[in-house]
Amino acid sequence: MSVQPAVFLDRDNTLIANDGDLGDASLVRLLDGVPAGLKALRAAGFRLVVVTNQGGVARGRYDEAAVDAVHRRIAELVDAATGMERTIERFYYCPFHPEGSVLEYTREHPWRKPQPGMILQAAADMELHLARSFLIGDAPRDTESGRRAGVRTILVSRDSDRIAKAHADFVAADFTAAASIVLQRRDEPFVPSEVTHTQARHTAPTRRLRLRTRDEAAERIRKAVLELTDELRSERNRRRESSPLRFVATALVLVSLLTATFSFLHLADLQSFARWGSAAVLALLLAIVALLIDRR
Ligand SMILES: [Mg+2]
Repeated sequence: MSVQPAVFLDRDNTLIANDGDLGDASLVRLLDGVPAGLKALRAAGFRLVVVTNQGGVARGRYDEAAVDAVHRRIAELVDAATGMERTIERFYYCPFHPEGSVLEYTREHPWRKPQPGMILQAAADMELHLARSFLIGDAPRDTESGRRAGVRTILVSRDSDRIAKAHADFVAADFTAAASIVLQRRDEPFVPSEVTHTQARHTAPTRRLRLRTRDEAAERIRKAVLELTDELRSERNRRRESSPLRFVATALVLVSLLTATFSFLHLADLQSFARWGSAAVLALLLAIVALLIDRR
């Protein structure tokens, strides 16, 4: 049995217009070019899978039944426009969010983008060829999840900040352009096309993932070292700078030394020795407190 490639699709502002939490199926509006693009991708042999974060469930804005209703409506509109059945084969969504208000959904989850959980689960469930697959999304977290899963990524955006943050393999101005990129680039696999079923599921995507991860890890380590060096340099400079508290601490140490000397001069008089000695200890303690405050 051969494994097929897929196009993983972000939902909000990739397939449908949605700037907020959408829990009402009657408000679903497909974006321009989406049905035609999906039809062309299906005709080219790609399986279509939606992967969407739905943190609105965790925040109590709507429930999972509302998410399902929205997905049924999307499928209905797409199928009506393409004249095909099950144009989009599956919808995966992540209802979890670490800052939710509904207890059972309030946590981090491996399915939540930018993590690659939904893509990897779909690949396992549907026997998909990840190295020949693509992801289309409008946000950096989409492309990050695709990159971590080992698929090629296409960012649909005209926003220069997003484009800079997303590190996508390709950038498209709209869905039509994104679908065209998939069709043009589909024969440029990252791994040899004669991969067997088992290799495709386990070896090929993993191998590519490791290569990418190793490059990324080296880059991250380099950046971390540079940041640490900068931090140490500024910390050293900061320490070199004199501060009023350091001046006070130095003065207190001198006072402490002076009073300690007095106390030793009065060694014969026990009362005077104790008085000057206490003053010396007190001055030293105050100096230590001033230094501790200065370090913070
Ligand atoms: Mg989106």
